[in-house]
Amino acid sequence: MSATMTALTPCPMFLDGKWIQPNISSTPVFNPSTGEVIAECPAGGAAEVNAAVESAHAAFPAWRDTPPMERARVFFKYRQLVEANFDRLCKCVSREHGKTLVEARGSIFRGIENIEYACGIPSLLMGDTLEIARGVDCETMNQPLGVCVGITPFNFPAMVPLWMFPVALACGNTFILKPSEKVPLTANILVELLQEAGLPKGVLNLVHGGRECVDTLLRHPKVKAISFVGSTPIAKYIYETGTQHGKRVQANGGAKNYIVIMPDADMPKTVEALSTAAFGCAGERCMAGSTALTVGAAADKLLPSLVEAARNIRVGPTDRTAQPDMGPVITAAHRDKVTSLVSGGEKEGAKVICDGRGVKIADAPKGFYVGATIVDHVVDGMNIAKEEVFGPVLNVMRMDDLNMAIELANRSNYGNGAAIFTQNGNAAREFKQRVKAGMVGINVGVPATMAMFPFTGWDESFYGDLHIQGREGVQFFTQQKVVSTRWFGGNVGDVWRK
Ligand code: NAD
Repeated sequence: MSATMTALTPCPMFLDGKWIQPNISSTPVFNPSTGEVIAECPAGGAAEVNAAVESAHAAFPAWRDTPPMERARVFFKYRQLVEANFDRLCKCVSREHGKTLVEARGSIFRGIENIEYACGIPSLLMGDTLEIARGVDCETMNQPLGVCVGITPFNFPAMVPLWMFPVALACGNTFILKPSEKVPLTANILVELLQEAGLPKGVLNLVHGGRECVDTLLRHPKVKAISFVGSTPIAKYIYETGTQHGKRVQANGGAKNYIVIMPDADMPKTVEALSTAAFGCAGERCMAGSTALTVGAAADKLLPSLVEAARNIRVGPTDRTAQPDMGPVITAAHRDKVTSLVSGGEKEGAKVICDGRGVKIADAPKGFYVGATIVDHVVDGMNIAKEEVFGPVLNVMRMDDLNMAIELANRSNYGNGAAIFTQNGNAAREFKQRVKAGMVGINVGVPATMAMFPFTGWDESFYGDLHIQGREGVQFFTQQKVVSTRWFGGNVGDVWRK
């Protein structure tokens, strides 16, 4: 344990309806605003995972047989409790992740929308019915899978878990949540509140840990489905290992999202949207607009005010009353990775026109800060052009025309988001038709989808068949049964026909 820690926040697991603090090794959880250790996250292994799976497996039959309306009622109550605990959740997200309170609030609202979507499960689970031949009826039923697992990243401690477990549970599955070991504390509150809402014992379990924990979940014979969100190498690993072990897997990966700026774009609005897309949540978003593709004269019209806007972004600690515009990144190691990618780009010939490296925060000298950074004249092939930086860094790449911009964006291995800023309908249409990305924005910098639409990453941003959220999310957590029915004996029909 670190010598800098003060009073640690407890970080128990929730197994079979009980909070337990196993006596096992742990990893430090930081407050990235100050660099202090605020908790120790237990590194769960086979013992904890097995206990969670057995509990979820035992709880499944009774929960599956609970009618959808009754299951939905738990989520109506849950929504109220999350709202009543809104400030507490926001503060926890802000403290362990470093989001500003405004950003934390936005992320919890997005999570609440997923709870609201789960409240509609009675309608979402309804099947179809048709008389397929004389006296023969056919109907579809949507039934749960069994024990499902959610493995989540550090960058949205509440929202991403809420993408998963409300809908999975409302569908009648039982669930094991394994949050990021870098931000385990918000998940504890989310689980506590769902118990308070009346969820039966064993229906939701919470395990903490890293690779060992994940590996046991991926191979456990009683686990039916895995929902994963994180970086691309791990998403690929989860998909391959999970499917090899017979599980249904949806695995969201990393991203590199392009924003095309046409010379006719509304520049003041574009500056505002681009700086939010690039620097919001300190750039730690899978939908961050991390590369601006300026077409023709757009660069000269855009960059002076964009640089000014970036220089005005106040960076600082997010755990106090006076809030900055942007908080820290998650760890010291991540800060160093971000700044070294920028320095590498500079060595390869790019120009840093707004430099957030080495930013000093007087009242939080040990926090993990990078200021807003803009790297101009990035060209295809540079490391900074390829790697997901995941920090407050915007690359600018200069394009001759829209065609060149679309072709460049389409060479990326990723395919999460892409956006265009223009006032020309033809250009917007051409872009939306041809760009290789699952979520497209037209004059919208962060076209992240909300609860009722699927989160449609393509290529190396997603492994699987059914995406998270929306109807695809419901399909992922259910299996269809088709029932054909014929009743013998004609008496009742004869009476009816008379
Ligand atoms: P990560 O891949 O390091 O970790 C994600 C989860 O996987 C964590 O729970 C972690 O404990 C586990 N994990 C890490 N290494 C593992 C290993 N070797 N074996 C098994 N499990 C392992 O991701 P992160 O750094 O926490 O999150 C940032 C990444 O997530 C970025 O790449 C970002 O783009 C991506 N992300 C994607 C989406 C999306 O919807 N596409 C959303 C949010 C974040």
